[in-house]
Amino acid sequence: MSRHQAVRNLDYEEVLDEYDGYEEEEEEGDELSSEDKALMAQGTAEVQTALGVEASKVTTKQIEEALWHYYYDIDKTVTYLVSKFISPPEKTPKAPKAPKATQTTNGKPRPLVGLLGGSGSPPKMSKLQKLAAARKKKAEEKSAQEAMEQTRTKMTELSVNDTSRAKENSPLAGAFGKRLKTSASTAEGRNPLTPAEPSRTELSQQPLVEISNEQVTAPEPKLVPDPEKAQPSSFAQTLFGYPSDTPRRKRTELYPLPYADFAPSVLDAFSKPSPDDVVLAAQAKVATAGKKTAVPQTKKKGPSADAVAGEVKGLKIEDAPLPKSKNLDVLSEFEKSERKKTASFVVVGHVDAGKSTMMGRLLLDLGVIDQRTVEKLRQEAEKIGKTSFALAWVLDQRSEERARGVTIDIATNRFETETTAFTILDAPGHRDFIPNMIAGASQADFAILVIDAGPGAFESGLRGQTKEHALLIRSMGVSRIIVAINKLDTVEWLQERFDEIRHQVSGFLSTTGFQAKNTTFVPVSGLNGDNLVRKSSDPAVSWYTGATLLEELDNSEPNKRALAKPFRMTISEVFRSQQNPLSISGRIDAGSMQMGDAILVQPSGEKAYVKSLLVDEAPSDWAVAGQNVVINLSNIDPMHVRVGDIVCDPAKPIPCVESFTLKALAFDFLMPMQVDVHRGRLHAAGKIESISALLDKVTGSVTKKKPKIVKPGMVARIVVKLGLRVPLEAGQRVVLRSGGETVAAGLLE
Ligand code: GDP
Repeated sequence: MSRHQAVRNLDYEEVLDEYDGYEEEEEEGDELSSEDKALMAQGTAEVQTALGVEASKVTTKQIEEALWHYYYDIDKTVTYLVSKFISPPEKTPKAPKAPKATQTTNGKPRPLVGLLGGSGSPPKMSKLQKLAAARKKKAEEKSAQEAMEQTRTKMTELSVNDTSRAKENSPLAGAFGKRLKTSASTAEGRNPLTPAEPSRTELSQQPLVEISNEQVTAPEPKLVPDPEKAQPSSFAQTLFGYPSDTPRRKRTELYPLPYADFAPSVLDAFSKPSPDDVVLAAQAKVATAGKKTAVPQTKKKGPSADAVAGEVKGLKIEDAPLPKSKNLDVLSEFEKSERKKTASFVVVGHVDAGKSTMMGRLLLDLGVIDQRTVEKLRQEAEKIGKTSFALAWVLDQRSEERARGVTIDIATNRFETETTAFTILDAPGHRDFIPNMIAGASQADFAILVIDAGPGAFESGLRGQTKEHALLIRSMGVSRIIVAINKLDTVEWLQERFDEIRHQVSGFLSTTGFQAKNTTFVPVSGLNGDNLVRKSSDPAVSWYTGATLLEELDNSEPNKRALAKPFRMTISEVFRSQQNPLSISGRIDAGSMQMGDAILVQPSGEKAYVKSLLVDEAPSDWAVAGQNVVINLSNIDPMHVRVGDIVCDPAKPIPCVESFTLKALAFDFLMPMQVDVHRGRLHAAGKIESISALLDKVTGSVTKKKPKIVKPGMVARIVVKLGLRVPLEAGQRVVLRSGGETVAAGLLE
């Protein structure tokens, strides 16, 4: 191995060992390895060629020494030789310092100074210098060793142990000795321990140290553990038992306590009640004296098992009488009702695109929230120096209230127009992460995609979440999308910017599966409210004559409701209020229900009853698919009800499965691997167990059986196994994620 390879493969332990033997190596000779010799010869020739006629100004030895220093780097060697010998810089009055320390490479010392960047001393010591230096070092070491010996002797006098044994017999002695030698020989500038230093004995005689020599040197033998013979670890004791010759000692016996002399007084201090205890006891006595019945002084017994059971019973939600049903024909009631159309939408887009601000502004302009509330929020926002956040906080208010479980106030994410009652699903706030978005999208009739038109922002959004969000909402079954091109006020409402963004976005939306007839674009400023509820009065945007965002929402047809199917609802929230010990909310996925109905909670399989319900906040006797409801439950323990569970018709329940087949669109490479399954608010761990087939995207026919891998963009039939039983059935849409990335989405078969 050449020296250069050795540098690369430097081994810390090896270096330490080799360093120890360096002196001998130096004295044995400075022979180069054959490899080094060859490199040296080649390098010398190259340097001489590079120097040309100037080569005569330097000796071969100087070249070799420079090459050696620079690890045969020709350029550095030439630069050094030129600056040093051929055209040296003018001498400064400051005298160059002598080399002070050496660095070692694979056992060979290297001067740290003298070459480029150094002080100008010769690059490497001559052999004679080296010999002299080595001798000097040896002499220094000798004196250092003597000093060490002297110190050791003094330490022995002081020590509580027999260090001579440690020195001779300890397996560490060799290595320790080496280190001592190394430090003594190399730590130039540092003073080794010398007899001039005050010894421990002398120190112990100083008035500050009150431990007498006797105490230190003659301890109670049983109190001191023999460091040479360490006590077996508890693991060793378990395996081999206690050595018979070792008497078992209490932990406290092992070390003499420095305050042993004071022990009696210390113990005394805790043997009596403290002054505080005395005062408290006296106070208690006075308090109890006034009472008719004396408090028994015996220790108070814990509550009996019966009492605990009684108390627990008291905590249980009372089995209320079953709620009465009006036995309505819900579907005909629905047809008769003059209710407004209901629609839910999700707001997606890159973080900071302005989603929350836009929704806050929409609600303000519609009068759902008042200016006073916004003003209050603005003041709060001002305190943290972010006034513009006030509108975005409008939506957060509700989630905070819900989190505290006090009120059920869904007013702030609902609004009505003349024709439709809208619900904003998954109020964005700062919950900008994908599982929430999947949950929202799984219930949405349509989506608003918010795009920041600011310079560079659109482009970075496109690289960021914009595309993934669009793909996800499409995968979850959303087919209608309104693209709000936002913050156009920051680019002076330039029509070119709007057109450019529209062009690019419609391109990727159509490849994602959104039809052009279901895609519309609105130029807006969420912050100022332009083109949200009212048409912008800014002349700079007079080029736009289309609909406002609200008109676009109104023009959107909600999805067809699966009214005739068995009742299903995914639980979005579980909470309680003063009147109702257990309430759930969500959007009915399929079927209908009415007050008094029994419903089944899956996967717990527990039955509950509908005590009362709210549809779009108003009390109602019944509800149908597509409506957002709050159901107040009775006759069920809350422990059986969780967010993500499904409530269903007990007569036609949703099955709980451990595996399912999915027709999936791959966003990433798919193979047998661990995945997280997301459906609405439900998240479950699972794995892709097998890939049955690759499918044609358009016809759905099998193009390849049992492929090993599915490439991004392909459609495949895959089998997913779950860790737990989960309520799932054909027709539902799920998303598969892995390592925080969405890897596939599809339809259960
Ligand atoms: P989100 O992360 O998508 O919900 O974005 P936010 O609603 O929190 O908005 C991010 C930032 O953009 C905030 O500082 C807003 O004040 C600002 N912003 C939002 N909409 C507009 C707009 O139309 N014009 C301007 N100039 N700034 C806006």
